[in-house]
Amino acid sequence: MREKDREVGPAVSVASDSVTRVPVRADLSLMEGYHSPQVDVDVRLNTNEAPVGPPEAFVEDYLEAVSSISWNRYPDRSARALREAIGSLHGVEHDMVFAANGSNEVLQTLLLTFAGPGRTVVTFEPTYQLHGHIARITGAAVIEGDRRADFSIDEGHLSDLVAHHSPHVTFLCSPNNPTGTVDSPSTVRAALEATTGLVAVDEAYGQFAPWSALDLVEEETPLVVVRTFSKTWSMAAARLGYLIGPRWLVAELDKVVLPYHLDAAKQMAGVLAVKYRSEMDDRVKDLVAERDRVRLELDRRNVDVFDSGANFILFRPQQRSGREVWQGLLDRRVLIRDCSSWPRLDNCLRVTIGTKAENDLFLERLTEVLS
Ligand code: PMP
Repeated sequence: MREKDREVGPAVSVASDSVTRVPVRADLSLMEGYHSPQVDVDVRLNTNEAPVGPPEAFVEDYLEAVSSISWNRYPDRSARALREAIGSLHGVEHDMVFAANGSNEVLQTLLLTFAGPGRTVVTFEPTYQLHGHIARITGAAVIEGDRRADFSIDEGHLSDLVAHHSPHVTFLCSPNNPTGTVDSPSTVRAALEATTGLVAVDEAYGQFAPWSALDLVEEETPLVVVRTFSKTWSMAAARLGYLIGPRWLVAELDKVVLPYHLDAAKQMAGVLAVKYRSEMDDRVKDLVAERDRVRLELDRRNVDVFDSGANFILFRPQQRSGREVWQGLLDRRVLIRDCSSWPRLDNCLRVTIGTKAENDLFLERLTEVLS
């Protein structure tokens, strides 16, 4: 995701044959895409998905609902039923809800609306790569703040950085991907106090954490909280995410996003999923209990473990290189995320919490690799 300034020249004819490549925007020319390689393994704990699908009753409801779709008609452009259903989850009206194709599209719409050329976005690294990546694609400048060694945010550093750069958007990510760190309420308040711009708290893993910034959202506060159906709701395949924020802001996002971006089947999936809230709450409890168990088990091994409020744990092997341990696990058909060469994440690996059986296999094979 590096950029380099280069003048836009005329269309270039590449050497081999008649293929003509039109130069991409100069500010995008050296940017790398977002990668999350998938490999065929027995245990896949690398992308923070839910370990099992949604309840069977949900799937039955959904299949029945889609059989009534009027395929020749556009879907409800305002996604009213979906927004009402999501609003009911959080005790807010439909007009404080903006939904899109995964929280990535929520982030993109937010940044198209509030970032862009001549504007500035602040992130605290290491964090979810797409915050900075999408911001740069919109043409904004990205200022990267640092986290402490334990990946928490120093509020003094945050306030100084925000005061100095006056960003239009300041990103927090709580729990933070890939570190699992939960920001405290005072960190969110410090960001709000320091800025004249927008504060976006990405809570893709919010249900696994002990508190949510949702409680701070109100009409007069420039704060949005971003969530997704991809993790807790076991619906990564559906691509559905949303934010809760002030009405005026949701109205601005509605002007920017493409018309009819949410297809009819997806809107139905979201409305029906919300009916299974208590099943989902139970699953969150089970995953949190598993996370805490895996954490204790990791503590008994030769690794440094970072506190996590999410459905994954970041750890750093003490005597072996992260890459070696990752490869050793892969050789034993367990795939986790190799963050060992990412900036500020020297030697770190991230494991998603799976089913009890998957977690046991991971721990067992990790013991083998470390011994
Ligand atoms: N935010 C964070 C912090 C994430 O980790 C992810 C998924 N990796 C997303 C947003 C995007 O999720 P989705 O587009 O599936 O809703």
